[in-house]
Amino acid sequence: MHKVVIIGSGPAGLTAALYCARANLSPLLVEGLQVGGQLTLTTDVENYPGFPQGILGPQLMQDMREQAERFGTNFLTGDVTAVELNTRPFKITLAENDQISTQALIVSTGATAQMLNIKSEQKYLGQGVSTCATCDGAFFREKELIVVGGGDSAIEEGMFLTKFASTVTIVHRRDSLRASKIMQERAFQMKR
Ligand SMILES: Cc1cc2nc3c(=O)[nH]c(=O)nc-3n(C[C@H](O)[C@H](O)[C@H](O)COP(=O)(O)OP(=O)(O)OC[C@H]3O[C@@H](n4cnc5c(N)ncnc54)[C@H](O)[C@@H]3O)c2cc1C
Repeated sequence: MHKVVIIGSGPAGLTAALYCARANLSPLLVEGLQVGGQLTLTTDVENYPGFPQGILGPQLMQDMREQAERFGTNFLTGDVTAVELNTRPFKITLAENDQISTQALIVSTGATAQMLNIKSEQKYLGQGVSTCATCDGAFFREKELIVVGGGDSAIEEGMFLTKFASTVTIVHRRDSLRASKIMQERAFQMKR
């Protein structure tokens, strides 16, 4: 039985692993299908402290992995399909139906952007197509930007992007926005 199992190998999972490993808890980290998490999908990461020239996302994740490994993190390739938290120790089921048990569990399974599933979007992801305004907005200074979606997130991201872009156009499917009224009011006040 493990003392700590961590699910997810993104920045959150690897940070948790580093701290657990340095506390002599010999954590087991289950990496999931996207080894290294979302930052492996991008090129330059410019907002991570300690890298004045920026660092490539995959390199940053490789470094985080090595750092966690150095202090005794064990890695398991696999995807978790179920967790049983009603009784202790907790039981974790992997895709191949293997089971592991643990005294403590850290879930750091992150998020997945909802894509449009159009042909070119994977090709241009990180090169003009982005899923994170706060991460990538600064790359698009004085550019004409399009935000797809009509909900709160789209409007919030769109308003944030006005700090950088020459124009921000919201493209949405319905005849009215799904975003909350207050968000809409703020956005329409920004109309030039
Ligand atoms: C293209 C792109 C560019 C970005 N650029 C920046 C940037 O420049 N600066 C910035 O600060 N942020 C950026 N971000 C956002 C940043 O990547 C995320 O905020 C960050 O990765 C979240 O870390 P996380 O560890 O919480 O989750 P994630 O990175 O999402 O990792 C989740 C992990 O959980 C695993 N997992 C999920 N489900 C299971 C399961 N059932 N079983 C096992 N494992 C599972 C996945 O395989 C993955 O390893 C960017 C995101 C994208 C997509």
